[in-house]
Amino acid sequence: MSGPVLPVDVAPVPAEPPVPSLPLSPLSGAPSGADRDSAAGPELAVVEGRTADVGGIPVRRVLPRRVRRTIGAWCFVDHLGPMTISASNPVAVGPHPHIGLATVTWLLSGRQVHRDSLGSEQVLRSGELNLMSAGHGVTHAEESEDYRGELHGVQLWVAQPEHTRHGPPAFAHHADLPVARFGAAEATVLLGELDGNVSPARTDTPLVGADLALRAGGAVLPLRRDFEHGLVVLAGSVQVGTQVLRPGRLGYLGVGHDELPLRVGEGARALLLGGEPFADRLVMWWNFVARSRVEIDAARADWQAGADRFGTVTTTAQRIPAPEPPWTAG
Ligand code: MN
Repeated sequence: MSGPVLPVDVAPVPAEPPVPSLPLSPLSGAPSGADRDSAAGPELAVVEGRTADVGGIPVRRVLPRRVRRTIGAWCFVDHLGPMTISASNPVAVGPHPHIGLATVTWLLSGRQVHRDSLGSEQVLRSGELNLMSAGHGVTHAEESEDYRGELHGVQLWVAQPEHTRHGPPAFAHHADLPVARFGAAEATVLLGELDGNVSPARTDTPLVGADLALRAGGAVLPLRRDFEHGLVVLAGSVQVGTQVLRPGRLGYLGVGHDELPLRVGEGARALLLGGEPFADRLVMWWNFVARSRVEIDAARADWQAGADRFGTVTTTAQRIPAPEPPWTAG
C-alpha cells in the first residue's frame, strides 16, 4: 500500500484522539496457571495508534506517534484492512513522490500493482515483499486495477541514513523470503535477520522486520540486545506479559532484551519490528523524510515544478499534488 497509505501528512503529529481503547481482558482460551511462566518476560509499553484516512480508506497508524517516533529506522507503520476491493471501491493512488525513506509493502491478502519512475511495474501478491528506496527522489503509484476481493496489508517506511538518503532510488521485489519457526510462531523474515535467518532484501541500517503467523500456544522470539523492538498485531490478539495487544496498538520494548515471550489464545498475525535506535532527528512531512524543513520545502517545490528529480510514472491514476506545509500557511 504505498498506495492508499501514503499521500498523508505524517509531519508534526498534532494532538489527535487515539483509537478507542480496547479492554485489557485476558485472552479467551489463553492458558493460565501452570503455563503462566512461559508468558513471563519483559513488559511492553503500549502505544495507542490512531485512525487515518488515506484517499477515503481508513488505516490504523501506530507509528509515528507523539510518544514514539521511531523503532530503529522504522518510522511509519500503516495497517490497512481487511477490506473489500470492488469496482466501486478500488485502491487507486496516483503518482506521488518520496525522499529519504524506503517503502516496505507487505500484503496478508489481495493484490496490487506497483509502478515507479525507475520503470518498474510489479504485481504484488500476499507473501511477497516490495521494497522501494527513495534516496534523493522517486515517484510511484499503487493500484488494485482488476483485483476484486479482500485486501489486507501494511505499508511501512524505513528512514534512510545519511550515507544513502542522498543517493539514487532503487526498487526490488522479493518473492522468496526465509521462514523460521519459534514455538507457535512461523516467522517470515521481511528485512534484516532473525536468529540467523537473513532476508535477501536490502537494508541500510541494522534492523529486523518479520511477519508472525501465530497458532494457539506460546512462542519465544529471539531479540538482539542492541535493538529496540515493536510488536504490531494485525489480526487476533497476542498477550505479552500482562498486556494484550490487538490491531491498532503498538507494543514497544527498549534495548537490552534477549527474548520476547508471546501467548496466543487463538490464531493471530503480527509484525515484529526492530533496529538500532536511530540517532538522527527526522523531519517528516507528507511523503518526505528529511532532516530539516529546508529539505522538505525543496522537495515539495521540485515535485510541484515537475522536476527531473522525481521522474515520471505512466498510469491512468492522477498525479497527487503536495499540500501546503503548515509552516508556510498564512
Ligand atoms: Mn508511496
